[in-house]
Amino acid sequence: MQRPRKRFGQNFLVDANTIHDLVKAIDPKAGDALLEIGPGRGALTQPLLHKVRRLEVVEIDRDLIQHLQKLDAGEHQLLVHQCDVLQFDFSADGIHRRVVGNLPYNISTPLLFHLLDHLEYIQDMHFMLQKEVVDRMCASVGDRAWGRLSVMLQSKCETQKLFEISADKFSPAPKVTSGFVRLKPLQAARLTPTLEADFARVVKTAFAHPRKTLANNLKSMLDSAALANLGIDPAMRPQQLDIDAFRTIARAIGK
Ligand code: SAM
Repeated sequence: MQRPRKRFGQNFLVDANTIHDLVKAIDPKAGDALLEIGPGRGALTQPLLHKVRRLEVVEIDRDLIQHLQKLDAGEHQLLVHQCDVLQFDFSADGIHRRVVGNLPYNISTPLLFHLLDHLEYIQDMHFMLQKEVVDRMCASVGDRAWGRLSVMLQSKCETQKLFEISADKFSPAPKVTSGFVRLKPLQAARLTPTLEADFARVVKTAFAHPRKTLANNLKSMLDSAALANLGIDPAMRPQQLDIDAFRTIARAIGK
């Protein structure tokens, strides 16, 4: 087997108990349309394959593909996509997938934003990520970790941190502790595409300088008086603002 490639974030799971805990939390059912991102050497793939009739995997590293194709699928079907998951079109075939993976940590934020764009076709997601990223995904308003990622994800998904995994459960061991997280798309009415775009722009701009006030961060969009008119204190820091308040600002700049 080739040596792990750092540029693909390859830290392979080697602890049987951890793998068992992850599969249990995912709780795959035979008929699930399950897709694993970054199967690597198949640590999760093999046990998942025993639970579902059909498993899709998306792996970028060509040198791992041959090994994956040799995994024991028995009666079950393993469909291997050799591509960059950031280019994978989750909405192309109308299948509503459950998406799982021990993700490459170096692309975690762009990957989460890519998945947000395809949420209508996703039933739920279970991901292993760097603990700090999981903490940001699951933070509450007012927390130090509450930021752009928290607001963008929680505006569209329910997020739940399940457990942490120490570095010694991987080979090679990463420099960080990991966390396992569940995301369930919210069924709430969707915003219009224009409002979605304004919301994303407001959130990004508001958190550009997290220690500065809202008025300061958002001055190119709204002045202090306009914020106050919306019932939002311009002296607040972005960490103090909940999702509804960001939506209120997005609606105001869209008028
Ligand atoms: N699932 C395996 C495990 O738990 O042992 C491997 C996890 S490893 C942290 C991340 C995996 O994602 C690697 O197999 C890596 O090659 C793959 N990967 C990295 N970047 C990718 C990308 N852009 N698209 C698809 N797979 C990628």
